[in-house]
Amino acid sequence: SRDYLFKVLVIGNGHVGKTSMVNRYVNEKFNKNYKSTVGVDFALKVLAWSDTETIRLQLWDIAGQERFASMTRIYYKEASGCIIMFDVTDSSSFRSVSNWKEDLDSKIKLAGGGPLPCILLANKCDLSPWDVPLSTIEQFSKASGFIGWMETSVKDNKNINESIKFLVERMMEV
Ligand code: GDP
Repeated sequence: SRDYLFKVLVIGNGHVGKTSMVNRYVNEKFNKNYKSTVGVDFALKVLAWSDTETIRLQLWDIAGQERFASMTRIYYKEASGCIIMFDVTDSSSFRSVSNWKEDLDSKIKLAGGGPLPCILLANKCDLSPWDVPLSTIEQFSKASGFIGWMETSVKDNKNINESIKFLVERMMEV
């Protein structure tokens, strides 16, 4: 049997839903008031991936440090993958995604020199109207080297497990 440990970064502007997503994924609930800004560096989720494979996922939420706009190298160190999230009703959070992605790619690369597998999450898809057109997201995701993008709703528990599973599959291939 094999054990994998993956450090996954969760980044994006403030208020897009990062902490809620980690909380939803790890604790299987949606809590409107939860905010983890103190105490823990990461949340841990253990996945029985197959009969012979166990995966430990460390989700590193930048909780509250978005004001620094770019993170220190320590935070990126030994990461295996990344989730960049924006809020579909907040176009400025979408415009910031390219900065987050460039900062990520400049600070960490795979051993082979390629970029870290990174998925783009268009969160709060339960709300309307969207402030960012779907075709714009689609084009941007392709042009910016994401492994893909998904619309998510932490509130409705839509595509949270699915998107992280997709990222894990790509990290397993590395
Ligand atoms: P963070 O600053 O990126 O960690 O964002 P939070 O997790 O603190 O979420 C910011 C606000 O958005 C909170 O009031 C959440 O309840 C809300 N929120 C998060 N995800 C969703 C979602 O998918 N849909 C809706 N409607 N609200 C959400």
